[in-house]
Amino acid sequence: MTQQLQITKARTLKEKPEVAGIPFGSYFTDHMFSMDYSAELGWHDASIIPYAPIEVSPSAQALHYGQTVFEGLKAYNVDGDVTLFRPDENFKRLNRSLERLSMPKIDEEFALLALTELLKLEHDWVPDGEGQALYVRPFVFANEPYLGVRPAKNYKMLIVLSPVAGYYGAQLNPTSIFVEDSYVRAVRGGVGEVKFGGNYAASLHAQQKAADLGYEQVLWLDGVHQEYVEEVGSMNIFFVRNGELVTPELNGSILPGITRKSLIELASGMGYTVNEERIHIKDIEEGIKDGSVTEVFGAGTAAVIAPVGIMNIHGTDYRINGNEIGEVTQKLYDNLTGIQTCELEDKYGWVHQ
Ligand code: PMP
Repeated sequence: MTQQLQITKARTLKEKPEVAGIPFGSYFTDHMFSMDYSAELGWHDASIIPYAPIEVSPSAQALHYGQTVFEGLKAYNVDGDVTLFRPDENFKRLNRSLERLSMPKIDEEFALLALTELLKLEHDWVPDGEGQALYVRPFVFANEPYLGVRPAKNYKMLIVLSPVAGYYGAQLNPTSIFVEDSYVRAVRGGVGEVKFGGNYAASLHAQQKAADLGYEQVLWLDGVHQEYVEEVGSMNIFFVRNGELVTPELNGSILPGITRKSLIELASGMGYTVNEERIHIKDIEEGIKDGSVTEVFGAGTAAVIAPVGIMNIHGTDYRINGNEIGEVTQKLYDNLTGIQTCELEDKYGWVHQ
């Protein structure tokens, strides 16, 4: 499926914004990658073109039945070089999402090559401030104009780029989370373990409820018993319990995060025991009360690591580690971001130049 990549450069370039001040994902670069799929031609017309609105039919299937999946990763500016963190994992996961939504898979190697070419062109957009990065958003949606319910015959893949500020600036600030016990995010056998657009639409109502109650993120429990911990916001979750790390095992409804996977390997390499298991919310509550659960944090591309300072479990607010970032959390954050920004040795071969 090797393809030619056509490049059409923008005639005028945008002014680059002050990255520190812009909200996440609100400003886009000069160019994007685009590729089309039809049942007859397969994936074709791979091109890098000026970033601009696209024409979509009012009957495009994605608008009605939601065949749309995406990925998210970051490009870092390392002394003028551009690096990506485990991009092969993102394209692998994109293919798992595509397969689950009955959409055509892409050539992962070609997609990475196209992204590399796009980043060469947009090199000057990769910010170099503390914690800043160029967020990379590949996505695929059904654009066949047809209102019957069946897999579409036409799709479009785009990759857009957005400069983003550090999630926290220089310091990690603990977040507050609300354990949601009426709405659920996903069930085993459903679509929670892939990056399907509808998962995020379906999470908004509970997110709004948590925000109205004064919490920043939702902690999702399992969709069947509503007793077992799954994820926090759009991050995976980790606990430090008796000095060991614990995270929910992948069970078919949790998104397998690349940060999660990396932290498990990294923490093991640093000498921590890491347990992937079914975690009952009651055990976490007991653990916080008896002092065995000392730290809680979320893990995902956007924030890398988000320490949890306040956790509301079934109506009771618990302070974790005095609402301060814990020692293990900080160590893992420093080590993972150190590898991502090439300040520490990349023993694992995760950084892609
Ligand atoms: N869970 C959900 C629901 C997510 O959307 C994300 C973000 N992709 C994650 C976990 C973390 O995944 P990653 O570490 O690959 O960003």
